[in-house]
Amino acid sequence: MKCRFHPQREARVQCQKMEIWYCQECLDACRACTDPCLYCKYRQQCVIWELCRKEARKRCKELEKKKD
Ligand SMILES: [Zn+2]
Repeated sequence: MKCRFHPQREARVQCQKMEIWYCQECLDACRACTDPCLYCKYRQQCVIWELCRKEARKRCKELEKKKD
């Protein structure tokens, strides 16, 4: 499988919800979650979420601010 953002690279992790693959760099940069603000039933076992939940929550708050 290849990374969604880097089609020339081998992917390391998969978003089980969207069935999309991402490379290590995307995982490190927390670009590997499509909808961190939405409910996801895979989250409890998600490697991406495990590493990125803080960043994801921050981004969700910023998105909510922009709506006001
Ligand atoms: Zn990538």
